[in-house]
Amino acid sequence: MVSPNIVVVGGCMIDFTSYCPRLPKEGETVHGSQFKNAFGGKGANQCIAAAKLGGKTALIARVGDDTWGEQYLSNLKDFKVDTDFVHITPNFSSGIAQINVAESGANQIVVIAGANSRLNIEDVENAKDVIGNADVVVCQLETQPEVALATLELCKGISILNAAPASTSCNEKLFTLPTIFCVNESEASIFTGTPVDNLSGAKIAVELLLRKGCNTVILTLGSQGSLLASKRSPNPIHVPVRAVQCVDSTGAGDSFIGTLAYLLGTRKDMTFEKCVEISNYVAADSVTKLGTQASFPGPEILERYFN
Ligand code: ATP
Repeated sequence: MVSPNIVVVGGCMIDFTSYCPRLPKEGETVHGSQFKNAFGGKGANQCIAAAKLGGKTALIARVGDDTWGEQYLSNLKDFKVDTDFVHITPNFSSGIAQINVAESGANQIVVIAGANSRLNIEDVENAKDVIGNADVVVCQLETQPEVALATLELCKGISILNAAPASTSCNEKLFTLPTIFCVNESEASIFTGTPVDNLSGAKIAVELLLRKGCNTVILTLGSQGSLLASKRSPNPIHVPVRAVQCVDSTGAGDSFIGTLAYLLGTRKDMTFEKCVEISNYVAADSVTKLGTQASFPGPEILERYFN
């Protein structure tokens, strides 16, 4: 295996989605119309988004000792992700999300973290050489926060914390340690306690995040692109995104982060703002297709951008 220059520490989930006319009430059985099964989890999604563009990636994660764990491992290998640090966890199921979607669009979701809940500091320390040698290291808050903290402490290159899911109480080092702190609108609102419903609210949130000690902040804004600011350049810059026909926005944030990690790790001559602009461009492509990992584009998207 080629040594990875993009390392992601995070979760692997398997989504089981049932489509039904309406959601069942307590104790009721409803006959659904369709079933879909897909691989997900922010960590694995972001890693695969970077790998599909051509990045040399490794994932540090845990799957269960069930059929889904084996299938997840082979899914990662299909995308050439280094799985040396993806451990099968005895007596734990893989991470599972059971999702019911009604015709009205209403949904019910039960999430079982399973093996993801066992990802621990020792797993990260066992991978300290790959983390320390990586150009870019990515983590999220789907793992225990101490796992993200240990990862950020071991990183010697660029670190990206996708601070999702957000929480109102969080260790202040999660703001100060990462090179890049990246959140969407609702996460920014939770971290700062300010409403983020428009561009001016988003700018205030970015300023508040800088005041909490973040080095560089990226706030993704869906169809409006993203905002970025840093300690050195604290006035938020709006990087708009092209208009596309949105079919399924699930995983847009993961496509954005995976692309950013890929560009920062491979195109070192590129300005940071350019990397954000291209990450917008690639994430916009992902929303034009159904699914999550299936919607992430390959290297042809970068050729399309440059030509
Ligand atoms: P999700 O939770 O759906 O994965 P998110 O809420 O984490 O996504 P968003 O801010 O919605 O993240 O989207 C991330 C990026 O994807 C945006 O910054 C933008 O570049 C792109 N994007 C998302 N939605 C659209 C859209 N409708 N049109 C164009 N680009 C989009």
